[in-house]
Amino acid sequence: MGADCYNNYVKINADTFTGSSPELVLKTVFGYDSFRPFQKEIIDNVLSGKDTLAVMPTGGGKSVCYQIPALIFDGITIVVSPLISLMQDQTASLKSAGVHSVFLNSTLGWDEYKSAVNDIKSGKVRIVYVSPEGLATARIRDILSGAMLKVSCITVDEAHCVSEWGHDFRPDYLEISSIRRFFPEAVMLALTATATRQVRNDIVRNLRMNEPTVFISSFNRANIFLEVQHKKNPEIQVVKCIRRHSGESGIIYCFSRRQVDELTDALDRQGFSVLSYHAGLSDEQRAKNQTLFIRDEVQIIVATVAFGMGIDKPNVRFVINYDLPKSLEEYYQEIGRAGRDGLPSHALLLYSPGDVHKIRYFFDEAADSAKSEALLQGMVSFAAGAVCRRQSLLSYFGEKYIPSGEGQTCCDVCASGGIPLSDVTVPVQKFLCCMIRTHERFGVNYIADVLLGSRQKRILDNSHNMISTWGIGTELSKAEWLMLADLLLIKNYIRKTGEYGVLELTAEGKSLLATREKVMLPFEFSGKKGADFSPDSRSAADKPEFIIHKKISAERPVSGDAEAERILAALRKWRKSEAGKLCVPPYVILGDKSLLDIAAKKPQSSRELLDIHGIGSVKAERFGPDILRIVRAGD
Ligand code: ADP
Repeated sequence: MGADCYNNYVKINADTFTGSSPELVLKTVFGYDSFRPFQKEIIDNVLSGKDTLAVMPTGGGKSVCYQIPALIFDGITIVVSPLISLMQDQTASLKSAGVHSVFLNSTLGWDEYKSAVNDIKSGKVRIVYVSPEGLATARIRDILSGAMLKVSCITVDEAHCVSEWGHDFRPDYLEISSIRRFFPEAVMLALTATATRQVRNDIVRNLRMNEPTVFISSFNRANIFLEVQHKKNPEIQVVKCIRRHSGESGIIYCFSRRQVDELTDALDRQGFSVLSYHAGLSDEQRAKNQTLFIRDEVQIIVATVAFGMGIDKPNVRFVINYDLPKSLEEYYQEIGRAGRDGLPSHALLLYSPGDVHKIRYFFDEAADSAKSEALLQGMVSFAAGAVCRRQSLLSYFGEKYIPSGEGQTCCDVCASGGIPLSDVTVPVQKFLCCMIRTHERFGVNYIADVLLGSRQKRILDNSHNMISTWGIGTELSKAEWLMLADLLLIKNYIRKTGEYGVLELTAEGKSLLATREKVMLPFEFSGKKGADFSPDSRSAADKPEFIIHKKISAERPVSGDAEAERILAALRKWRKSEAGKLCVPPYVILGDKSLLDIAAKKPQSSRELLDIHGIGSVKAERFGPDILRIVRAGD
């Protein structure tokens, strides 16, 4: 991205907002009316000088949590970021809002580097992006220590990189803690979208945070419709999904490079705008394909898991998992790339029992295969289950799902009316009793086998064929016992502990057993008593393909308004050409949500432009004349 591309931007002076209120900065610079959950609390905590750890899902709005304090503080905010592409994206977005920030990394030419250093030293810039390895060098430390302004805040973005339990461990992140002594007055803010307790603890310890306040926001991505289809004719299913999202950006994840290439070719032959992304391509080709996708030059990327970490593209409208992910953690991360801008988006998983075997085949014998199996089981339970997907996903991450009201897109199960409630009081009591009789030391398969009266060696060795619950559950098949256990987990009557999924009763489960109250759950009795079970035989996997009745993208404020559609199309064209001129991705100019808001509200004056989502004072001044001309053109 050329640094000179848009130097003629109206700039906000570094000290314009020093000491201002966070609300004023949010509205004037970023053009937003209100804070998202926890943003204000996080910002206030950082401004009061307290170390802060913020855990927010992708798209939750982490960036403003450090950008707003950075403009209010009277010193520099260092932002440690793991990827050059993320730094470039952030500085470009800030620049389009009128804020000057710089990054120091190897992509800068000598002149750009010198100019960035001068701006830091002379106090012209408040936000400095660096890589962890860059921050560890004496040269960059000296630049920051010798600056006119002190360092007020060290922000560690993607902070899970400091944990070996995270999926992107970066040893360089461990150096960050030792840098802190050079900037004794700086408060530390760590940001991550990785929710597990283990990772959180590692962040606090490995960054040596000072009694941080921890904010954990909900992991519910309410704008993403969750759908699972039985994988029958995957290519046709993919094509149908793409057609539903005609012209919109999407990512398709496949298990292997070969699959990526085959699907890319197939879609290309059908005339779709599609490119591939995987480790078998050269660095140059990968970077090129990614850039074309980010700039809306290509509509679809077919990729292996490798794709996505370095992109902040907010308008990805659909994510398709062509193959089953290996865990719900992976699934959540991948679907999280959809709908960062908060607009309705779609996650489609194609599930086939055959994929389960394919994944198992690749479990590394030397690695912890029991752990991999436990993770895979979580994924299978989600995909084959018949309860609300959102409830199931969030309960896996330890969160209780509270539906937030009407009209919210949720999932295929809810949209189809769900499974009717059945009285499962007796089997539930049997299951919970069996857990107690076996001293809450076993996983779901073992409990089901005991209930079914199995004579497996392990059960006989433990003398569990002698307990009162052995063989009392033959009215259900093993598949049904496993499904019932999933429901009990989702309803929080039982929980899994440790890496191997040992079951224990929660307080709710204990109370249920004690009071013997009636239990109604969305459960279908198959009548196949005691039948043999493999995870693949779960009946839900065979349900017919679900059809979304309401086109997801039809929930837009402008549908049915011909004038609004005209404005939207014209704005898109203008945005693309403007982005090309300034060498930035289109969303840096204005996000989709802003375009929709303009098309719906049709502002007639600069004043009215300031009411548009995502338009602050600088964008209004810079782009206002063009936008107003486009809106008025239809008069
Ligand atoms: P994250 O880093 O948590 O994935 P971002 O900081 O990239 O998320 O924010 C996601 C999107 O939400 C961006 O387009 C951002 O401008 C927007 N956003 C952030 N805060 C708000 C807010 N308070 N109101 C409206 N939009 C917001």
